[in-house]
Amino acid sequence: MSIQTIVIVGAGQAGASAILELRAQQFSGEIILIGDEPHLPYERPPLSKDAILQPEQTKLEILSEQKLAELNVKVIRNNAVVKLQPEAHQLVLQSGDVIHYDKLLLATGGSARRLPMLDALGQHVYTLRNLEDSQKLIPVLQPEKRILIVGGGVIGLELASSARAKGCQVTVLEQGAMVMGRCSPLNLSQFLLQQHQRAGIDIQLNTKLVQAELRDQEVILTLENGQQLTGDVVIYGIGIVPNADLAREAGLDVDFAIRVNQYCQTSDPDIYAAGDVATQLVEDEQYRRIETWENANKQAGIFARHVMGNPLAQQTPAWFWTDQLDMNFQFAGDMTATEWHIRGEMDIEQGRNASFVMFGTRNGILVAGITVNQAKEMRHLKKMIAKAQPFDAETLLNLAIDLRKVA
Ligand code: FAD
Ligand code: NDP
Repeated sequence: MSIQTIVIVGAGQAGASAILELRAQQFSGEIILIGDEPHLPYERPPLSKDAILQPEQTKLEILSEQKLAELNVKVIRNNAVVKLQPEAHQLVLQSGDVIHYDKLLLATGGSARRLPMLDALGQHVYTLRNLEDSQKLIPVLQPEKRILIVGGGVIGLELASSARAKGCQVTVLEQGAMVMGRCSPLNLSQFLLQQHQRAGIDIQLNTKLVQAELRDQEVILTLENGQQLTGDVVIYGIGIVPNADLAREAGLDVDFAIRVNQYCQTSDPDIYAAGDVATQLVEDEQYRRIETWENANKQAGIFARHVMGNPLAQQTPAWFWTDQLDMNFQFAGDMTATEWHIRGEMDIEQGRNASFVMFGTRNGILVAGITVNQAKEMRHLKKMIAKAQPFDAETLLNLAIDLRKVA
């Protein structure tokens, strides 16, 4: 059967990327993009960084109205899909409209995980997932404001950095023993912790929040050890919940996220999922969900190629970045590497001028790499990881040897 209509649910990173990839793969049929936000697809990474620090100069748009028209895409916005009916190959929208598909991509992303105890603080509490959330933070982050951040993950640290740059007093409460513990090795996490402390940010690890209350317009957070912290507002980033209800209610195979195979196909072969909402089968018969900008783009590409019957692009190591305290950190490969080796100096005294590369190895093979303020080396690291290059300390840790020449 020829494919006439492809519908994409979710006008975010994976949704936008899927459109570009479908047209690049010569799909000439109808594409319908359905989003529940009022906006055309936009980038989320700046929302915690430049969109707060320099909103006027920050471009978020991924696909303009003109570009979408050129690509011949029918866009439905401000209208959530509320029901998926796989047998009928149709979707029901909030407006009541019914849309037919031949192939469907679910690219619905995730929502900020909620903590009812904090939500009870009403207008004194914020989370960050979309453009409106980010815009609401701009007037809040004023000099001397006391900002209590719950969660020392990527959102927590990036917002701590932005709030500090705006002159706020910042405290971060992390329940685990490390900052960015879900995606960073221990030594880099410790480096990040020290950098934040050096910038005047108070970070408390191993904390357990037991109470949150409002007294005379001040927020009081009580920790399990009895300590109380006072602030003007709380911002929290404690992970996301994939927006998988549509798929779950339609009877697709869903655990916490939508399960997909190596082609991003769900348990229904006409329905695919990509991005933060998908958990993908990896070689060892395990499922893995990756919440990054690059993964959303990659999986959208896998979907488009598979739908068109084209071979998949060559796989590259997973990659993401974070910008904090005027520093750029990039991560590639498997962050659970068993040993880490440093090229250059991991010197906290150099503050934002610190600059080094880290090699992660397992059984002597390079499986991961991190650059700190050395973005130009990332390309070489990715190449070495993709080749599973044996780690040769003498060469790779020698600053006189150009990494480009040994990758
Ligand atoms: P999204 O981009 O979230 O798009 C999903 C879309 O689907 C949303 O518009 C949503 O409203 C819509 N939707 C949901 N349900 C429905 C429905 N039923 N009907 C219609 N539409 C629906 N990654 C990095 O690698 N580096 C970074 O520096 C970085 N910074 C980030 C900063 C912030 C503040 C955030 C929130 C994320 C950041 N990320 C970063 C992660 C990256 O942005 C995400 O991994 C990526 O956006 C995931 O793309 P997605 O398409 O799966 O989801
Ligand atoms: P993360 O999953 O990265 O981190 C959440 C952190 O909050 C974890 O350290 C977690 O600890 C901690 N936590 C959970 N519950 C509590 C609690 N009750 N009290 C204190 N700490 C708690 O999620 P984020 O919210 O930081 O990020 C949300 C999404 O945004 C992710 O998809 C992320 O990828 C994306 N994002 C990515 C960025 C990037 O890649 N540069 C930047 C900003 C956002 P524990 O692990 O112990 O549970």
